[in-house]
Amino acid sequence: MPLTSIEKTQGGKYLLTFQDHTNALYDIVILAIPCSLYKTIHCKDNVIPKERKHLLDSMQCGYTTKILAPLKDGSHHLKTAIDHNTIAWAQDNILTLYYIEKPDLLPVEPFFASKSKMLKTAFEFTPPHAITHVKDETFCTYNSSITHNWPHDPYAQGSYSYIAPGQEELEYAFVEEEEEKVKAPFASINRSLYFVGEHTSLGPRGTIEAACESGERIARIITKRHYE
Ligand SMILES: Cc1cc2nc3c(=O)[nH]c(=O)nc-3n(C[C@H](O)[C@H](O)[C@H](O)COP(=O)(O)OP(=O)(O)OC[C@H]3O[C@@H](n4cnc5c(N)ncnc54)[C@H](O)[C@@H]3O)c2cc1C
Repeated sequence: MPLTSIEKTQGGKYLLTFQDHTNALYDIVILAIPCSLYKTIHCKDNVIPKERKHLLDSMQCGYTTKILAPLKDGSHHLKTAIDHNTIAWAQDNILTLYYIEKPDLLPVEPFFASKSKMLKTAFEFTPPHAITHVKDETFCTYNSSITHNWPHDPYAQGSYSYIAPGQEELEYAFVEEEEEKVKAPFASINRSLYFVGEHTSLGPRGTIEAACESGERIARIITKRHYE
């Protein structure tokens, strides 16, 4: 259930409120949402100080998109084609187009159609222009080309984080918690509110590895601090 607000009770616990208006009380909270979603969570100043909340709300997310198209047979060994906004590669029976273009400016269907010539030249293959926008369900099977609009996904609101102009120094400001390095904007608050996600990672952002690295590191801090 999506989280909508965090308050602090007089007893020092966190009162979380969810979209269905249910509540829950916790001693420790780990916010593992994308950085683009911080601005959607209502917090009082005693939960996240105003200055920090302002900083978190200003974190930026990109708009990378992928289209996956089924290839007709297995004769397409690993091949790659690149132009100014797209990397396309064929592997096994799937053609992947990874591109950077604002979906509001260029919807995915005309974008895909505009790549016909590139795909024909590189892969001797022109996929049908129809694209299915995937459902938010696991283990689905599709026979058509598929895509997902990450910037329009209410729980992603972008693809992955980047360092916006003016925020470069924040990337290199660190604090130490329980002998672990933490990026200063994502340091824990009151030793009880923690931040996890690819944007908080010490390694390269925007990857699964980054998300895992941050999760494991914060888990070590919490274990040392609260359970040892
Ligand atoms: C098109 C595309 C291609 C990519 N390709 C690669 C790749 O090839 N290799 C790679 O390593 N990485 C890739 N990534 C990046 C990778 O997917 C992310 O870096 C990683 O998933 C980030 O993990 P996370 O845990 O930080 O956030 P997420 O995986 O986004 O998890 C955050 C979770 O928070 C939930 N959430 C949001 N709002 C709320 C709320 N209010 N309350 C409760 N829950 C909420 C979301 O539903 C989501 O489940 C790609 C990403 C995109 C978009």
